[in-house]
Amino acid sequence: MDFKKLDRIVEDFINKYKFHVEVLPMIVDYSKKVLDEQLLDVSNDWSRKIEINDSINIVYKFLETIDVSLANQFLNILNSYDEYGNPYVNILPRDEYPNGHDEVRDGKVYVYYENTSNDPFCILHEMLHKMNECFIVNENNEKEERFTRIFLGETVSILGEMMLGNYMVQNGFISESDFNIRKNFRLNEARKDARDVIIENELINLKLNGIDITLDSLNSLFNSYDKSLIEYSVLRDERNDLRRINEVLKNNCLSLHKSLGYVIAQVLCDRFLKRDSLIDDFVRLHYSVGDSNSDIVKVFNDIISDNIDIKR
Ligand SMILES: [Zn+2]
Repeated sequence: MDFKKLDRIVEDFINKYKFHVEVLPMIVDYSKKVLDEQLLDVSNDWSRKIEINDSINIVYKFLETIDVSLANQFLNILNSYDEYGNPYVNILPRDEYPNGHDEVRDGKVYVYYENTSNDPFCILHEMLHKMNECFIVNENNEKEERFTRIFLGETVSILGEMMLGNYMVQNGFISESDFNIRKNFRLNEARKDARDVIIENELINLKLNGIDITLDSLNSLFNSYDKSLIEYSVLRDERNDLRRINEVLKNNCLSLHKSLGYVIAQVLCDRFLKRDSLIDDFVRLHYSVGDSNSDIVKVFNDIISDNIDIKR
């Protein structure tokens, strides 16, 4: 185990991502909330088959109920091609691409369908990412994803999924149990991210306290936690297999700038869903995430203080 390298990776992160480090205590609180959430009871199978064209249509109809210009933007991207004639959206059969990963890569959307109730969720999730794509050129002249989107991009896509789920259940497209399968999937994913946040937070705190990261310092950190705390069980598992630390070494970076987005989404979606102004808030958040001039600190603080009045 190359602890010197780990030490350097953590130090680089602290120097590069100052805002992440500043809000980290709050993200750790969110992570504990996520790990406390209970999974729902579900049957394991999707209740029905939905043909892929019907899934696309359901997503379009849903967006129409939210905001007509969003629905139009969805259709426009779906029908767009780059200068080489390649489509911007690739919706491909899962059985032909068993290892395909739903994502937006190099500006192109990839979604792998299986003709089930799950497909509309996957389509909407990735399409929202594409619809609020927002890049800036950083001080090294490199194109990078904008800050606001790193923090809140997943919140838009996952909140969109939850609103779509409600719409589909209300209109009889999917069963309540189907929706619960998707909710459990989201929670399970967020739990993994929450664990990553908690472990990486500990590494960062060691460095911030001027302590080198070694097996000894990790062990004494572990022993400092009360056994009833979530941190204890997370660190105990990590100590057993060093899974996260091995990943950090392999990737040469912490996962925090990705994992925190999912943790934030899991917690904030619940808050948004309880609000009477849900649709307006969702639309404003979506545009704000895609706006290279929006003020991340203001957007974020407005949301966490539940004073959601984001500049459109
Ligand atoms: Zn996503």
